[in-house]
Amino acid sequence: MASQKVGVLAVQGAFAEHEAMLAKLGAETVQLRQASDLEKPFDRLILPGGESTSQGRVLRDLGMLDTLRQRIADGMPVFGTCAGLILLAQRIDEVNGDGSVVDEQHNSTWLATLPVTVRRNAYGRQLGSFHTVAPFERLGEVPMTFIRAPFITQADSEVQVLSVVNDNIVAVRYGNQLGVSFHPELDESLEIHRMFLSF
Ligand code: GLN
Repeated sequence: MASQKVGVLAVQGAFAEHEAMLAKLGAETVQLRQASDLEKPFDRLILPGGESTSQGRVLRDLGMLDTLRQRIADGMPVFGTCAGLILLAQRIDEVNGDGSVVDEQHNSTWLATLPVTVRRNAYGRQLGSFHTVAPFERLGEVPMTFIRAPFITQADSEVQVLSVVNDNIVAVRYGNQLGVSFHPELDESLEIHRMFLSF
């Protein structure tokens, strides 16, 4: 298996749970909290769930976006979960409290490397929190915990769809990039993390 020193974005959100999963799989982790952390050795990246707007602003303000974007473009494997998926998306829209959909305009605050449209708070702001078990490409049935979840409304043709729940795309792969709209780090199954470590 390829080398497994995983950088985990640790500015906000559910990073500790990812670290615990990676430890169970025998992978080393390094927390990424500031620009100087990007100089530490790591060869893959996890972007955790949390609040994508805050995470994106912190990444921009700390000057971390360009380096991470370049490393992803150079082929570093990256795995975004929930808010992390939103940070990866090339296009983002959002469902407002009144149910209307608006485009996000400020793409200086996210990575925009994954050619999909992600809808934030896609089930409504207070909804989108549920647990299910659903088929995932090559892995069979996996548990999925959704928390104020986004989903993918459009994936460009070269993007591989890995899982669909209630007619909504919830997991995709595009080369070295894996994105899911749920929180695999909150369930017991290690399979999606194991799959990512094999990239
Ligand atoms: N609703 C959050 C956002 O838009 C994502 C929620 C999550 O990561 N669980 O950033």
